[in-house]
Amino acid sequence: MKKLMVCMSFALMSGWIFLSACNNTEATSKLQEPIVVQTENNTTGQTTGTEAAANAKIKTTDDLLAAFKGETIASAKYAACSKKAEQEGLHQIALLFKAASAAEKIHANNHKVVLEESGTKVGAINPEFTVKSTKENLLDAIRGESYEANTMYPVFLKDADAAGDQMALLTFNYAYKTEKKHRVLYENALAAMEKNNVKALSAVYYVCPTCGNTYESDPASRCGICMTTSEKYVKISSL
Ligand SMILES: [Zn+2]
Repeated sequence: MKKLMVCMSFALMSGWIFLSACNNTEATSKLQEPIVVQTENNTTGQTTGTEAAANAKIKTTDDLLAAFKGETIASAKYAACSKKAEQEGLHQIALLFKAASAAEKIHANNHKVVLEESGTKVGAINPEFTVKSTKENLLDAIRGESYEANTMYPVFLKDADAAGDQMALLTFNYAYKTEKKHRVLYENALAAMEKNNVKALSAVYYVCPTCGNTYESDPASRCGICMTTSEKYVKISSL
């Protein structure tokens, strides 16, 4: 009898332990599984999207700062190249450099406004550059404008698009379209120089104060990039 009681107690105990173990396992897995799945969903879904948006925003701010620096240096360099061309008796090329310098300053200011509007402080730039002979300066300018038009601004536009930053898209687009025109103007100036025909180049330029668009002698009544009316253009016909 005693033996039977012990056996029954043992069997009951074992059953309770077994059931408890099952219940615990079940309870644990019920508690844990949804958490694990949920955590994974949250991590791969929401966090990735938020991180991508934050990265695009940071990238666009860096792009704006780089573009502001580049345009500030280009404006100062072209102003110095303008003086050098005049010293070499290449008045028309001096005017082109002056017009491009004014345009790059507009781009730099536009980039700065967008940065400041988004709460980014913009420090002063101390432009460092080298002025060579006018022919070398033209080659440098063609290289610089080609890099901006073919590589730099297309990448910056893509980044700004990913960030959904309309103001950055606008200011990058103004600069991108203008630099493409500058490259052609510099190429024509170099070709004229090589043919000893500089005097045939335009002796007047018009710069759009909104986007920096640069016209030779015959401006459109509205800017082809930003639609600003022609009476607002800055005329450059003397140094
Ligand atoms: Zn314009």
